[in-house]
Amino acid sequence: MSDLRELYQQVILDHSKRPRNFGKLECGSQAKGHNPLCGDRLTVYVETRDGKVRDVRFEGDGCAISVASASLMTEAVRDQSVDAAHALFERFHSAVTSSHDSEIDLDDLGKLAVLTGVRQFPMRVKCASLAWHTLEAALRGETEQVTTE
Ligand code: ZN
Repeated sequence: MSDLRELYQQVILDHSKRPRNFGKLECGSQAKGHNPLCGDRLTVYVETRDGKVRDVRFEGDGCAISVASASLMTEAVRDQSVDAAHALFERFHSAVTSSHDSEIDLDDLGKLAVLTGVRQFPMRVKCASLAWHTLEAALRGETEQVTTE
């Protein structure tokens, strides 16, 4: 189990240092997210066509968890249907907000499983969820910033 945790840490570190799909998209919709508790700020860009996520990128600045989560999210939802992206968010969100002794279907979450360790740290759950909430706003076409301020 500690080997697994170490592997998870490495993946998070890698994605936070070299985030995938980092940048802007000229077309499609975008939304901004802000987590004032930690200071994470993200802009998520998404282009959908025929009910599918054709492209998704993000920009921003934040802690390692928020950046790694955004990076992993873009990989997870690209080329998925919008419905599948929503469903994945639901499963991810319920995993990271579940109690720490309940079982998580790690295989089902794929690479996103590396973030499930945050469920022991409520502050970090917001960092890990920010990109997803921002993606949801972008998919709904909301251009106002997602924030609790
Ligand atoms: Zn954070």
